[in-house]
Amino acid sequence: MKTANPRILTINGGSSSIKFALYQVGEPLKRNLSGKIDRIGLSGTNLTFHDADGKPQASRKLIAADHKSAANFLIDWLEEKYDFKTIQAVGHRVVHGMKHIAPEIVTQDLLDELHRISPYDPDHLPREIELIEAFRQRHPKLPQVACFDTAFHQTMPRVAKLLPIPRRFDAKGIQRYGFHGLSYAYLMEELARLGDPAAKTGRVILAHLGNGASLAAVRDGKSMDTSMGFTPTAGLVMSTRSGDLDPGLAPYLERTEQMTTKQFYEMVNHESGLLGVSEISSDMRDLLTREAGDVRAAEAVALFCYQAKKWIGSFAAALGGLDTLVFSAGIGENCPSIRARICNGLNFLGIELNESRNTENAPVISTNASRATVRVIRTDEELMIARSVCRILEPGAVNKKD
Ligand code: ADP
Repeated sequence: MKTANPRILTINGGSSSIKFALYQVGEPLKRNLSGKIDRIGLSGTNLTFHDADGKPQASRKLIAADHKSAANFLIDWLEEKYDFKTIQAVGHRVVHGMKHIAPEIVTQDLLDELHRISPYDPDHLPREIELIEAFRQRHPKLPQVACFDTAFHQTMPRVAKLLPIPRRFDAKGIQRYGFHGLSYAYLMEELARLGDPAAKTGRVILAHLGNGASLAAVRDGKSMDTSMGFTPTAGLVMSTRSGDLDPGLAPYLERTEQMTTKQFYEMVNHESGLLGVSEISSDMRDLLTREAGDVRAAEAVALFCYQAKKWIGSFAAALGGLDTLVFSAGIGENCPSIRARICNGLNFLGIELNESRNTENAPVISTNASRATVRVIRTDEELMIARSVCRILEPGAVNKKD
């Protein structure tokens, strides 16, 4: 049955949250609402949402022990508040997609495969599968699309994918994959829309600096390398993730502190990074407020900027130069002092910031004379999911659900 008002629902399942958004199908896609259920599995679970104008609306309390019950609450809420029949498809962010190079319609075969590859990403995949299955149970005919965060990086050359460990592991899929692909795909589309020639032909470094943080090296529109690897724990120091570490550290801590693999995993994912070094907070804003009076906060901020600078330098080397550098996500979009510290000393790469543009979070923060253009672009993973759903289903197919 066709509907006059087709919509796409996007779902982005985190460890204890579900972010969602509803888009009106059309050119361009129009966001009707965006929201979040957080503290899933904890006390004080809440559904909060913003209307089409971004105005916050009254929140709703719920009890949800797991993602499945939170998804069922969300479906009931959407049925009560919006005409659920208008939802023509659901797009899910799926963090790990192994070799998948593009978004795919969810079939039983794909679900079976996602179950099979779950051990590669035990932090994300089981919950994401739970969400897809919850929608499938309630609305078996509703098309669902899996949008993989790894897909953007499948163009990386073999040398960037290989891990220098015994070759037999490579055949088992133990390679560098990279993540944040939906954000990077969106940033590249924005770059093209803004008319930056480097989007099509050129050398671009994308810095997605949020709680999770990574950088990507892109040449001629294709990912050539990225800082995250086999898991999202790799690369740059993050809010609570360590980023790259000496592989000798795990056995050393096992010998000297009897640290188990599970404890090591907890430490490098949830107790390290900005939080671990500062012992104060995982949040960059908190650290910036405290850095003048607390050396631990100052060191955490300095480490973040130093490492980001090193990644930019190494990616410029991999790309043979730099045409455009893009800052994005919470820190990248909002924090002039961090951007300035990262770029400080990178004049040799042609990077020259304009101080007042940077302070204003302007779209272009480099000087007119800067050889490399430095931009701030607000990322939108939800919109990228909705676009991917429309592209895979085609506007006609979007209306052919029933
Ligand atoms: P997530 O990966 O959870 O989506 P975000 O992209 O929201 O994370 O980024 C969160 C980070 O952005 C936090 O460290 C937060 O302090 C930082 N941030 C957000 N706004 C600002 C700001 N105005 N100044 C400095 N940091 C900011």
